[in-house]
Amino acid sequence: MPTFPFSAIVAQDEMKLALLIAAVDSSIGGVLVFGDRGTGKSTAIRALAALLPPMRAVVGCPYSCDPEGPADSCPHCATTQGLRKAYRKPVPVVDLPLGATEDRVVGALDLERALALGEKAFEPGLLARANRGFLYIDEVNLLEDHLVDLLLDVAASGVNTVEREGLSLRHPAKFVLVGSGNPEEGELRPQLLDRFGLACEVGTPKDVPTRIAVVRARDAYERDPQGFCDAHIKDEKRIQKKITAARERLSSVTVPDSALESAARLCLALGTDGLRGELTLMRTARALAALDGAGAVSDDHIRRVAPSCLRHRLRRNPLDESGSTARVARAVDEMFAG
Ligand SMILES: [Zn+2]
Repeated sequence: MPTFPFSAIVAQDEMKLALLIAAVDSSIGGVLVFGDRGTGKSTAIRALAALLPPMRAVVGCPYSCDPEGPADSCPHCATTQGLRKAYRKPVPVVDLPLGATEDRVVGALDLERALALGEKAFEPGLLARANRGFLYIDEVNLLEDHLVDLLLDVAASGVNTVEREGLSLRHPAKFVLVGSGNPEEGELRPQLLDRFGLACEVGTPKDVPTRIAVVRARDAYERDPQGFCDAHIKDEKRIQKKITAARERLSSVTVPDSALESAARLCLALGTDGLRGELTLMRTARALAALDGAGAVSDDHIRRVAPSCLRHRLRRNPLDESGSTARVARAVDEMFAG
């Protein structure tokens, strides 16, 4: 069955935008999606990966390096210079199941080979497969803290360092980390929350027309998946072009002092800890400007990305019972009003 098209996803605009932004600039860090079950979180990630152009990868490289510029940290490509052949493969979406062991995630000693041949060989894990793609964790709030920590470290550096069982190696692991969670089933520690680049909320639509549109789209897709996808090809191509153009344009988008000032004032007003909020706000606004085809970041870009950049970085305020989304919205309104 072909993947449900990204362009056919009804509503959930904030999540769609956060994923597009992460696809344009993976250095923004992961995307955290809070919300009920059955709100299409996993569908959206698969849909986005499926609309990205297939990537060229080195034949035989377990990390799917780009033949044009294999990662410096790739142990496979370091030994195969000049002999590389390329093939095309879809952008990977790797699911990290809740019960996954650390071995399975980071990779481990290939015991079979060690026993049979006496060789110390590395058996790549899920992080290897996720390189250049997406790593999706459903219910990330139920994952052990040390694993979440590890994943965030790797996502930030783009390199997986393995030091265990007498093995010592580094390999490329550049991916967009997407975690979904239901806050009612356990919370992430604030230290972990803060390390996700973006956080968005999804919910079942509350208005009748949107609900009808969701049901109609789902039904049409399930009755004739191929026909449904064919009908959306133009829209899919349009989004694909937009992402490709934004990636190319990203490095030339400028960030004027006025935008940085807005970001700083907003973070000060909300009392976010450290400078991570501002940095994320700047990078995210820049990626959005690139998607918009703008040459520079404006206050409007800052305003549009502020909720997803900041809502998970607020300290609890015992005097203010309103949710974090409402607090960010109010601070944005107050700041841009005058
Ligand atoms: Zn490689």
